[in-house]
Amino acid sequence: MSLTMCRVCANPLSQPDFDRPAPAQSSIRTVLPVATQVYVCRMCGHVQSPDLPALKDFYDTQYRISLDVDGHDQLYENAAGEQVFRTQYQAEIIGRLDVPQGARVLDFGAGKATTLQRFADLRPDVDAHVFDVSSDYVDHWNTWVQPGNQATYTLPEEWVGRFDFITAHFVLEHVAAPVEVLESLARALAPGGRVFFSVPNVETNTGDLLVVDHLSHFTRPSLERFLARAGLLAERIDEDLFHGAFVVVARSGENQPVTQPNPSHLTDVLVRWQALLDNLATRKLEGPVAIYGAGFYGSVIATCLAGQASIFLDQNPYLQGSTHLDLPVGHPGACPKDVRTVVVGLNPARAHEILGDGSPWLPEGADLLFLDALA
Ligand SMILES: [Zn+2]
Repeated sequence: MSLTMCRVCANPLSQPDFDRPAPAQSSIRTVLPVATQVYVCRMCGHVQSPDLPALKDFYDTQYRISLDVDGHDQLYENAAGEQVFRTQYQAEIIGRLDVPQGARVLDFGAGKATTLQRFADLRPDVDAHVFDVSSDYVDHWNTWVQPGNQATYTLPEEWVGRFDFITAHFVLEHVAAPVEVLESLARALAPGGRVFFSVPNVETNTGDLLVVDHLSHFTRPSLERFLARAGLLAERIDEDLFHGAFVVVARSGENQPVTQPNPSHLTDVLVRWQALLDNLATRKLEGPVAIYGAGFYGSVIATCLAGQASIFLDQNPYLQGSTHLDLPVGHPGACPKDVRTVVVGLNPARAHEILGDGSPWLPEGADLLFLDALA
């Protein structure tokens, strides 16, 4: 058996703190035939999952985020009836960060680079560059990024010291060697340049622990040590800007971690997830059953319920009318009247807030079942 080491501090890790047999959930809502294992590092507070088999191939050919539907986007916020899409919100955040006039900007792990495209629409002075570990996106990039500013698979040597601003939106949680990758981004900075990245915050979005292609689950202490190891100084590590995520702005410099790790808090969270999933897998719900939310949490629920659910309900117009895990996805307003149980497939930390007091679409006599009632 190979020795497992912490991806942030290289501390040896022994037994997984969570180990559940296949199937597992991916971040793109697919089900993968691998076990879900999670390790908590007692040294730095980082949380991690094993490499996926054939990781390179997964991103090269299977991870086609938002490619199949033009204009597809992930719904970021839906409280108070307001719909904001993720790339739009990310572009707004960057817009507030005083990116210098004429800046050379790189979107690393760009996918379609929709965020940078939206930002460049507002700021035509910036010199946009894109990079990803797949060539799937080149056709889309060609519509707005000049070919000399595109790279795939490895960062070109001539990009060292080039960029005033580098973005990596929800990328670093996917990579096998995050310190190495962040070091390569630090090297690509021009003097005075900044790296802007976001990663899920496992403490406010605990379902992230179950996402098997998120090889790292960052905590504040592990993030501070991660930046220090890559030679970056944090200007800010923000937990409030983006729900369930850390938003980091950093530049080259010495960094002293200040937050103490709290590994037992995370092992407790894993124990609660284990209980919740066992409860869901053995519970007989009054049917027909609908699942509110066809995103990550809804997918976990559908997999656990093994055939008990008959429909997903979701506010995202890009998902309505599609099928997911062999179930139709409909607007909540179109919930079949005979549904007796609606399981709420939203981040338990925010589900009550998102649904608010009223669920006018809920059929008469149907029950709403929240995940936090099952743990
Ligand atoms: Zn560690």
